[in-house]
Amino acid sequence: MTDKALDEAGVRKRLLAAKAELQDRIDRIHETARDPLEADSAEQAAQLGDVAVVAALEAEAAQELAEIDAALKRLEEGSYGICTSCGEPISPARLQARPACAECLDCAETHSA
Ligand SMILES: [Zn+2]
Repeated sequence: MTDKALDEAGVRKRLLAAKAELQDRIDRIHETARDPLEADSAEQAAQLGDVAVVAALEAEAAQELAEIDAALKRLEEGSYGICTSCGEPISPARLQARPACAECLDCAETHSA
């Protein structure tokens, strides 16, 4: 057990913290979008007043949230850290940098190219 490379409890904690943060962010986006005048600051209202900006922020947050949920599910199923595309292990350094990532660097680069 001690030589296990993956600290599952630590990963779960990081994912749950990131998830809470994102849900918070989405809630704030919704509140601000609904009533820009009640935004925390004029700056935020200006930033979020633009519908396109709100939609982009929301889509980005929603996608991150979906990635985190999928990562938590893989953690439950014991397939966390395995690339969902090629089935090879994802490098620990990459998981450390992006705990919610679903693909190894090679596959991620192929898809974004
Ligand atoms: Zn891969």
